[in-house]
Amino acid sequence: MTDIKAERHKARQQKVKEAVDAKVAAATIERGVLMVITGNGKGKSTAGFGTVTRAVGHGKKAAVVQFIKGGWDCGERNLLEGVGVPFEVMATGFTWETQNRETDTAAAEKAWAVAETWLKDESLDLILLDELTYMLSYHYLDLERVLTALKNRPPHQHVIVTGRNCHRQLLELADTVSEIECVRHAFEAGVKAQPGFDF
Ligand code: ATP
Ligand code: MG
Repeated sequence: MTDIKAERHKARQQKVKEAVDAKVAAATIERGVLMVITGNGKGKSTAGFGTVTRAVGHGKKAAVVQFIKGGWDCGERNLLEGVGVPFEVMATGFTWETQNRETDTAAAEKAWAVAETWLKDESLDLILLDELTYMLSYHYLDLERVLTALKNRPPHQHVIVTGRNCHRQLLELADTVSEIECVRHAFEAGVKAQPGFDF
């Protein structure tokens, strides 16, 4: 009986392996991937920065644009700038509280101008556009302008966009889309955002 079970298990696993091997063999294209990490759960920016770290660990060149600057010291920036990853952080005037349309739009456009130059830079392998989705949902940036720059980037260049409520057209353009669901967040239980874990 045990032997029969083992045999069946082996046969099933062999089938799974064959299917996976066939898929791996069929995936032969090497090119830049546009990835969107969205949803209400925690971990979007963390995943973006994790990929930047991964790229740097392979000797690749990466750059980061942060479209929302919190009042907090960013742990990833402290580390990654030290290993040569350039950061463009949206002007300090921008916070959730001000919501001053004119200054916010100007700040977004200034940061986007840097993103656009990086999206033409052949030497960059990966660009993280952290919290870009809000610039589109607030209409601080023109959707067509953003989509055009993403479409026309160097073919090998990877781009990661993070933020909630990603615009439908940006989702459609992306090659990989991950939505992080919020099952629970410690903040709801009164736990404050802590350095080294939340930022
Ligand atoms: P992280 O930077 O931790 O990966 P995130 O990028 O997924 O988070 P954002 O919406 O950018 O999420 O929020 C940034 C801050 O808000 C972080 O301090 C994070 O812990 C907190 N946060 C994220 N999701 C939630 C949530 N569902 N409820 C409360 N706070 C959250
Ligand atoms: Mg984030």
